[in-house]
Amino acid sequence: MTSSSLQFAAAVTIPDHLIGEVHSKLAYVDERIAKAHISPSGDQITLELKYAIPAAERAAIEEKVQRVVLSMAKGAIRPKVQVLEDYLDRPTPFAADPMPELLRRGELFQEAEGIYALGPLFTRLIEWFENRFLQLADSFSARPYRFPTLIPARFLERVGYFRAFPHSLSFATHLRTDLDQIDAFAEGASCDEHGHLKVPLESFAPVRTLLSPAVCYHLYFTLADQTLPPQGVVATAVGNCFRYESLNLHSLERLWNFTMREVIFVGDKEFVLANRELARQRMQRVFGEIGFAYRVESANDPFFIGEFRKQAAFQSAFQLKYEIRARLPFKDGTLAVGSYNYHQDFFGRHLNIRLPDGSPAHTGCVAFGLERIAFAFLAQFGFDSIHWPSSMQEVFG
Ligand code: ATP
Ligand code: ZN
Repeated sequence: MTSSSLQFAAAVTIPDHLIGEVHSKLAYVDERIAKAHISPSGDQITLELKYAIPAAERAAIEEKVQRVVLSMAKGAIRPKVQVLEDYLDRPTPFAADPMPELLRRGELFQEAEGIYALGPLFTRLIEWFENRFLQLADSFSARPYRFPTLIPARFLERVGYFRAFPHSLSFATHLRTDLDQIDAFAEGASCDEHGHLKVPLESFAPVRTLLSPAVCYHLYFTLADQTLPPQGVVATAVGNCFRYESLNLHSLERLWNFTMREVIFVGDKEFVLANRELARQRMQRVFGEIGFAYRVESANDPFFIGEFRKQAAFQSAFQLKYEIRARLPFKDGTLAVGSYNYHQDFFGRHLNIRLPDGSPAHTGCVAFGLERIAFAFLAQFGFDSIHWPSSMQEVFG
């Protein structure tokens, strides 16, 4: 019998703190899945498929889903969430979803899933926040950098990125440098009804480059095989980042192509941890001045299935990542708009970045998602600048 939906019991009950993480990974299980749902109790999974398929194929999909569930949820221990700041209760004047209004005003133009052009209001809001982040960077005398959008596969390989985040990679290639291939492409290239370029894979050169998933990695590669100055390194940069989020790409909350501003610290452990903490305190003042509703709490990176348990537990145990989670009143939820990260000596060891005493350097970064912070601001304060914080009215009024 063919059917286009599938419901079954999870192989183990998914604890509530993992339901979101497991759900986001179901987007990568099978191309025929259109939508997945995990019951709030964590023991029922429902899949909607794009079209009806025979029972044997549905069984194969179920088996893959159970692999995800077992790998991520079996024996999982609930991490202790550490809250460093909690201002989620700050009253904010707006409660609607900004998406429809942004689209209506032509402030947002969707080019494809997870890819948007942003209009003037959005752009100015991002600039306003960028100025705050640049002031933060200045307060550390951070040196400015500009990094490429592309990143060599070799770099990501060296820091274990392929194993940790294979699902979200975006690859960049070009036509093979062969006149026949190029001519054939120029003559015949066209898109099908799904927007897929109809080109044989052999036309493309082997992949040796990807679209960069983060900003700070580029700095670490500039420092590879070097000894740091005694005072350490503080740098800042803004850049395009790419993370393919599959079915999770909806609205401005989750983009394939987004922009990150980072302030990056490289030095000994105390230097990195003290600066990360200082950055948090300085941003606490900035967010306080505008009455932003958010909280800062411990978190983990979205590691892929096989790596998730080990790496997430490690991050939690060593308090390596704190997220700034802004309130989204329209959905009574939160959205990570930034993070305070400490990588210990991971990059120092893998890239041979040394302290003056010869030991591996420690690194950390403060990263802000520019589209997300502007989106969360609009979700809390709306479109009428009369209701905006007074310091912003001067700029936008
Ligand atoms: P680390 O260096 O420890 O890997 P990072 O520098 O990669 O961390 P993240 O915490 O992964 O930083 O991401 C920083 C911010 O970028 C997030 O808090 C979020 O605001 C934004 N961001 C991440 N993924 C997306 C996405 N898919 N769409 C929009 N914004 C995103
Ligand atoms: Zn970073």
